[in-house]
Amino acid sequence: MEKTSQSYILARNKSFCNFCPGYCCYRLPGASLLLTAEDINRIARHFAISDGEVRSQYLENKNTFRTREDGSCLFLAPGKMCKRCSIHEARPRQCREFPYDGPCPYLENSGLLEMIQPRVERALSIPPQVTTAPDPSDHNR
Ligand code: SF4
Ligand code: SF4
Repeated sequence: MEKTSQSYILARNKSFCNFCPGYCCYRLPGASLLLTAEDINRIARHFAISDGEVRSQYLENKNTFRTREDGSCLFLAPGKMCKRCSIHEARPRQCREFPYDGPCPYLENSGLLEMIQPRVERALSIPPQVTTAPDPSDHNR
């Protein structure tokens, strides 16, 4: 197998989220991020604004964030390779729990990775990388 760039050798363990550019923070067709009232209130307290202001400024309907043109969450910080959530301490429950104690689907599924990686590279303004599915034997790196 062709060697994947070190930047994209990621793992099946949630701790590797710390080294990931946030593939799951880009909305693909069929994917959704559903916010609870508790999430909205946490974000409101984070910004010291009201729940209504969070809804009007950051939500595109009753229960999900607006996204940018490339499908990225509006809280995804540009120009960083990892730790890109700008509201990490206040992020929604779904973001905290994903990928739900399972292997990350973005790293397991080469089709998903191929869809997401070009968007990430454009956002980070880095040259295109060779995309290959992560080698399962890499998971303890
Ligand atoms: S869940 Fe997967 S795509 Fe999301 S940050 Fe973690 S490793 Fe990256
Ligand atoms: S709130 Fe943070 S972790 Fe959740 S989708 Fe947006 S950038 Fe990603």
